[in-house]
Amino acid sequence: MLAHPNTGQLFNSPVEPGTGWPGDPATPQTAVAADAAQVSALASSATSLADLNAQVSVCRACPRLVSWREEVAKVKRRSFAEQPYWGRPVPGWGSEQPRLVIVGLAPAANGANRTGRMFTGDRSGDQLYAALYRAGLVNQPTSVDAADGLRANKIRIVAPVRCAPPGNSPTPAERITCSPWLDAEWRLVSDHVRVMVALGGFAWQIALRLPGAIGTPKPRFGHGAVAELPSGVRLLGCYHPSQQNMFTGKLTPAMLDDVFRLARKQAGIR
Ligand code: SF4
Repeated sequence: MLAHPNTGQLFNSPVEPGTGWPGDPATPQTAVAADAAQVSALASSATSLADLNAQVSVCRACPRLVSWREEVAKVKRRSFAEQPYWGRPVPGWGSEQPRLVIVGLAPAANGANRTGRMFTGDRSGDQLYAALYRAGLVNQPTSVDAADGLRANKIRIVAPVRCAPPGNSPTPAERITCSPWLDAEWRLVSDHVRVMVALGGFAWQIALRLPGAIGTPKPRFGHGAVAELPSGVRLLGCYHPSQQNMFTGKLTPAMLDDVFRLARKQAGIR
């Protein structure tokens, strides 16, 4: 067992449900989806975000991803060798009544798969949360672990795949298997949502497949692209704040600021 870097509590890697990890939504009794049919059944019957988050966080429906996330959790990157790794699926994070939803791709093996919180503990997340802070959408500029006090201002961050995939690349079958979790999350929050930001072209396509977006002529993704969905939600395109995009200057902090300041304004967030 290793000590959590913030709380000092000891954990196995992966973390067992209900053992005290900060923000762990599950208990040992939480229902575990073992295949695609069970994901679909549990997701469609979820009546609260608390239940949904708990069930997402213990899902084992994709054998390849389960084995990868757990292997990374046990082997660890050398720089995090002294830390316990979450090693489980990563639920959506943020407000339960968000006016702005940010759509990513999947957890990073040594980022969210380590910390248990979306975009937390990797370079992409460093850029994203710093920009969200500058736009007044979170309460602090850094997001390092699940006990660091980060709070959302009417935003929620979601992903279409909840387990870290090898090579950051889930298979089409894994994307389909995981999709009911996001559909259910959207069903539970969408009444409040005014704006979505899609981080990259894949997230853009996912956003256009959510209920309420069906019927939209398929607008092309681009940084700064805007699509008005039939549900009344406005979809904004933003390049993914990946290490490569930021390093090459394809995406700059100023470009992120433009997107999130616009998103905040259009979502009516104070
Ligand atoms: S990717 Fe999604 S469906 Fe597959 S095991 Fe992870 S949480 Fe379950």
